[in-house]
Amino acid sequence: MTDVQLLLHIDGHDESASDGATIDLTSPATGARLGTMAHATAADVDRAVAAGRRAFDDQRWRGQAPRDRARVLNAAARLLSERVDEYARLETEQIGRPIREMRAQLRRLPEWLEFFAAVAQTERGVVPDIGREHLNVVRRVPLGVAGLITPWNHPLLITMKKVAAALAAGNSLVIKPSELGPMVPLRLAALLEDAGVPAGVVNVVTGLGATTGRALSEHPGLNKLDVTGGTETGRVIAANAGRHLIPVTAELGGKAPVIIFDDVDLDRAVSGALFASFIATGQTCVQGARVLVQESMYDAFAAAFTKRTAALQLGDPADEATQIGPLVSAAQLAKVADAVEHAEREGATIAAGGRRPSGQAYAAGHFYEPTILTGVRPEHAIWRDEVFGPVAVLVPFTDEADAIRQANDADFGLAGSVWTRDISRALRVTEALDIGILWVNDHHRIDPASPWGGMKDSGIGSENAIEAFHAYTQAKSVLIATSEKAPDWFGTTDLIRYS
Ligand code: NDP
Repeated sequence: MTDVQLLLHIDGHDESASDGATIDLTSPATGARLGTMAHATAADVDRAVAAGRRAFDDQRWRGQAPRDRARVLNAAARLLSERVDEYARLETEQIGRPIREMRAQLRRLPEWLEFFAAVAQTERGVVPDIGREHLNVVRRVPLGVAGLITPWNHPLLITMKKVAAALAAGNSLVIKPSELGPMVPLRLAALLEDAGVPAGVVNVVTGLGATTGRALSEHPGLNKLDVTGGTETGRVIAANAGRHLIPVTAELGGKAPVIIFDDVDLDRAVSGALFASFIATGQTCVQGARVLVQESMYDAFAAAFTKRTAALQLGDPADEATQIGPLVSAAQLAKVADAVEHAEREGATIAAGGRRPSGQAYAAGHFYEPTILTGVRPEHAIWRDEVFGPVAVLVPFTDEADAIRQANDADFGLAGSVWTRDISRALRVTEALDIGILWVNDHHRIDPASPWGGMKDSGIGSENAIEAFHAYTQAKSVLIATSEKAPDWFGTTDLIRYS
């Protein structure tokens, strides 16, 4: 078992918090102590922002040619490929996600560095035609120092999505990982420096959201805030960004519908819904939280979905055979159990799970059985509120219009999937949904080239793709007079030409 002492990473140095404070880290699977992390004070955050500012102002990173920044990002991708198995083991240990999932996820992360290395080199400015007397050159320039606030459920993936785009554009960063998942994001900072990112460009401050996170999001020295977290956290951080008039990207909560039409093969529909609802023990923002099934196949689907859910293998996340790990913390376990109990009190029926597993193997960890609820009505809290755990609501729908109405009946609009063999129907339904990320006959798929962002209460802006790169830059417009004649504002009556 790891026994780590995680330190802050500021200006290329690992250091303790200025007041020496630390926070204990524990295993969600066994309750064992994993070590400690430094609890950064507001003064530490201030030093991290100042280090990022110095690095930005002296141009040690943004001043490099895009091809040189790209070379460093590609070197980082190669280093990451070599370290993936170690990082996967650490993430499993820290957040309790099964090793089979962590390895599959982390093996893809070099792609983000490679993609944004390519974007840095291929991005071109524009020259709008504004007439013959001026040449207008518009370039995209980096913003400055960006504050990145990330959650625990995909510690490295979400950090990487932000870091790769931000660095490719030439910014400096201060990262505040979740208190529950700081181990690998901290290692990423060291890896980037090993690959050639200059010290001071990537800084990491660990600590609690309410203290360290708050100090970062309120810092007047930032030029961008980028948060992934719950919707209420996003509102607070976006309000802080508004006070300083800085742009914000916010990837927030969800309540994803999985819409299954009756022309889909039953086995495929069931395995798709299991994947949507229970990967990461349901702790993903795009979790299939509302499984809507056409009524003509509802009974057959419900029987098969319930049976396969009950057969999922809970256990030690480090075991290759484990399919469902523990929830990340005692607080998360209590939140999930409360949501299910509340749903039952409101009239829902538990079709699978709905309790902590019994047995010595589960006693010290935050385990909860994958759960299916039926009989849920739109006025029930479980229909609307994000649980962020292994709980899926199963409801029937009559026809296409009913499916769209139910799926859109949510404050969130992050993600959803449509399962049908009818391509025209898939196009009509995806068009009608107020949702930012949609899959047809799939779920959870992500790619660095594909934008990732929600509508409604699920956030602002997008990660991934050229959208993320642009969100880490701003247009700088230079108008160059090309006319031979010097303009003489006060010496002419033909003012329209000069205004
Ligand atoms: P939280 O909102 O609790 O935390 C997110 C981050 O914000 C953490 O680093 C947290 O620190 C920090 N934080 C908390 N309060 C503040 C504050 N007042 N000021 C500044 N920072 C703060 O989310 P979780 O970590 O629990 O993650 C789960 C949530 O994230 C879910 O709602 C989920 O839907 C969403 N999410 C969205 C994704 C998307 O792509 N849209 C992807 C993944 C998750 P600390 O943890 O130390 O308290």
